[in-house]
Amino acid sequence: MPNLLLAYLAWTIAWHGFEFYLGRRQAASVRGHRDAVPAAFVASVPIADHRRAADYSLARLRFGEFAGAIDLAVSLVGLLWAFDAVAGLAAIWAPPSILRSLLILGVLWVCGSLIGLPIGAWRDLVLEQRFGFNRKSTGLFIRDALTSLGLTALIGGPVVAGILWAMRDLSGYWWVWVWAALTLVMFAAPTIHVRIVAPLFNRFTPLQGELADRIEGLLARCGFRSGGLFQMDASKRSSRGNAYFIGFGPTKRIVLFDTLLDKHDTDEIEAVVAHELGHFRHHHTLFGMLRGIVGLFVMLAVVGWLARQPWLLPGFGIRHADPALALLLAVLLAGAVSPLLGLLGNVVSRRHEFQADDFARRTVGAAPMISALTRLARDNASTLTPDRLFSLVHDTHPPVPVRVARLVA
Ligand SMILES: [Zn+2]
Repeated sequence: MPNLLLAYLAWTIAWHGFEFYLGRRQAASVRGHRDAVPAAFVASVPIADHRRAADYSLARLRFGEFAGAIDLAVSLVGLLWAFDAVAGLAAIWAPPSILRSLLILGVLWVCGSLIGLPIGAWRDLVLEQRFGFNRKSTGLFIRDALTSLGLTALIGGPVVAGILWAMRDLSGYWWVWVWAALTLVMFAAPTIHVRIVAPLFNRFTPLQGELADRIEGLLARCGFRSGGLFQMDASKRSSRGNAYFIGFGPTKRIVLFDTLLDKHDTDEIEAVVAHELGHFRHHHTLFGMLRGIVGLFVMLAVVGWLARQPWLLPGFGIRHADPALALLLAVLLAGAVSPLLGLLGNVVSRRHEFQADDFARRTVGAAPMISALTRLARDNASTLTPDRLFSLVHDTHPPVPVRVARLVA
């Protein structure tokens, strides 16, 4: 077996093994605390809800292990056989061209999506259904899946064609142009999402009444100008509550899920919005954007260098050379560090969550924030007793008990 392929597979399998170990630790921690609510939550979380959260966490872990094993198997089949086989077939049908490269990537993408579809269906329609989170009918699941596949083809197709064109017709620094173009896309993305993508999936109605007045008051107190307060019909897919801010400058929107509005009182909703305002006040969105732009630059520089190395394709045992495979393998190889970057990203993100919580405490007080966090954990069946190491690797948000303890202090 070629050395590069061997090293890549060894790394992938090692990481999956580490994930499995973390999952076992998490299962032990959740199961071990299943019959006792942590002291800080005895008054606010009934034992039945605590047990349900434990059962849900364990079911999600088992599902994650299954999905991870499928993922590993798909990578193995792709690297050991499918990439080369598809490129070989394409080479019989057509001379080298951007269209042929697109065809190769398209076939591999469709196969990957078809494998992912039943796994996603199981997660939403069986696992989430069993714990009462799913509100999607099978029909809506299929409609959603087809819409996002269509959108990915519609947006991703031209983007990938553009990258392949740049690789072929621009100099060795093609990736700088790709980076500049993708950066522009990143700035346009929130607007495209708000105007075109999100309305394909949900309905947005301006928020009105007493709650809207309360939130407008909060925004005015914090000196925050928004492009509108909206309610989204998230309840047609899931019973989970959430809220988000999207966009830049004065056009940024605040979106509250109807599921959040149903289950939380006005004080708690105000606290959730104050937390999101904290992210804006501390420039976390802008910082995340800059991090994305710099990260993309480094990633593309590495991909650009890898893709023109003569040893890349033979290193993976590929016999049918095509720019599509050079791009794909360069991305895979450069992406091998992504679990480690993810760890770093989580550290930053968790710090930001603390800062946003602190901001919420200063603006609306600790009590409504604590009660909102507790209710969210209860309603979403989040475990209150996660394993430390598991949480460190997987969670972008600090566990609720840690956040609550900090708010109390
Ligand atoms: Zn946050």
